[in-house]
Amino acid sequence: MPSPFLTPGSHAQADDVALLHLRRDQTIPTILRATDNENSGYKEGKVSNTRFGSFPHSTLINQPWGSQIVASKVDTGSRGRKPSNKRKAEELEASATTTGAEDSSSLKKPEAAASGFLHLTYPTPESWTLSLPHRTQVVYTPDYSYILHRLRARPGGTVIEAGAGSGSFTHAAVRAVFNGYPNGASATKKRRLGKVCSFEFHEQRAARVKEEISEHGLDGLVEVTHRDVYEDGFLLGDPKTGQSPKATAIFLDLPAPWLALKHLVRKPASGIESPLDPSSTAYLCTFSPCLEQVERTVRLMRQLGWLDISMVEVNHHRIDVKRERIGLDCEGVRGATVYPKSVDEALSKLLTDDERAKRLRLAHLQGTRANRTEEDTTSTPKDQNVPTYNLGRLVHRTESEIKTHTSYLVFAILPRDWSEEDEKKCRQQWPSDK
Ligand code: SAM
Repeated sequence: MPSPFLTPGSHAQADDVALLHLRRDQTIPTILRATDNENSGYKEGKVSNTRFGSFPHSTLINQPWGSQIVASKVDTGSRGRKPSNKRKAEELEASATTTGAEDSSSLKKPEAAASGFLHLTYPTPESWTLSLPHRTQVVYTPDYSYILHRLRARPGGTVIEAGAGSGSFTHAAVRAVFNGYPNGASATKKRRLGKVCSFEFHEQRAARVKEEISEHGLDGLVEVTHRDVYEDGFLLGDPKTGQSPKATAIFLDLPAPWLALKHLVRKPASGIESPLDPSSTAYLCTFSPCLEQVERTVRLMRQLGWLDISMVEVNHHRIDVKRERIGLDCEGVRGATVYPKSVDEALSKLLTDDERAKRLRLAHLQGTRANRTEEDTTSTPKDQNVPTYNLGRLVHRTESEIKTHTSYLVFAILPRDWSEEDEKKCRQQWPSDK
């Protein structure tokens, strides 16, 4: 099954994960089901009850993504009934990240809910991050986009992730390395398919991420392992004899990342295989909330041969920049008490003197005033016979709504191994390179 996260197609299909977009800050994830397993017999399929009305999935399936869907006006059979426990839990969990209290009351009394509409949208890692059921703190888009860029995550790469937590980073990482489906047409071509190898120590969280990966059509592209990586490292399957993921990039979102570093070496001490790709540089990022943890991590990175170590804090703010409206008096002096409503009004005030008006028009037409910097404008002498066309002071505000959970990011690289054999091969390939 193709994943709507990676190749959504044009229309929503049964069993796809979809995001029901109710308003800017409220999106409910749901799996579209043509039949309602819990209340079998409903011909409208599963029903999503929201504060804006009930949406039987029969009205969502096969609709183009992005469609506006109006709430059902007919008695869907499920209205007025409490949803089954499993479904109720699912919807409550989804809404808990937004306005849980309101939603839970609308679930109890769906018949009282206002009839409205929603937009049917396919999931992206960004929208999933904002709507997913939080089981832990998560990595948000401003951080993971920068991390994946610095990790050189690209189609065909293999990323190790620990811990999986709520799966926020997992979805962004798999999109970055996606290079075709394991059983798709591209699998027959000789190209490396991307993969995320995700490790999680908490049993229930690991099980839930596994379930989600499967529901989201990402089986084969994400492999979730229930594991304490401090103890047992990053091989797939058995911790000692298992297969190496041959990772090109590693992201550690762990309470003590330094405890996992001993496994991320070219030649592990215990003689087991390295989880790193021997033919590639390894790119590593750790995510830690305090500088003491960063120090411990950096110290060990140096001892283990990691290079180019740097620390970054992503401090993402959306900044709203605009010019303040500035008043002009008859003399064209900034800060006067007369505030014109438009440029025309400001000009008309300056037209008291014919000569000045002509100059103003001329200057305005030539655009010379408009290109002046604020410094030029404020330093215009009052008695200079040049009219002032004031641009206004630049002001900015930061938007407080952006969700981030910022930590210190430590980046490092481990060069690939270079053996005698590699040198020989290289010389055969480039004989003149003596
Ligand atoms: N990056 C995740 C996301 O974006 O959703 C959030 C990760 S959460 C902050 C940290 C996770 O690391 C927790 O789920 C925790 O159970 C897991 N963890 C802690 N110690 C671990 C260990 N030794 N091995 C594997 N996972 C571990």
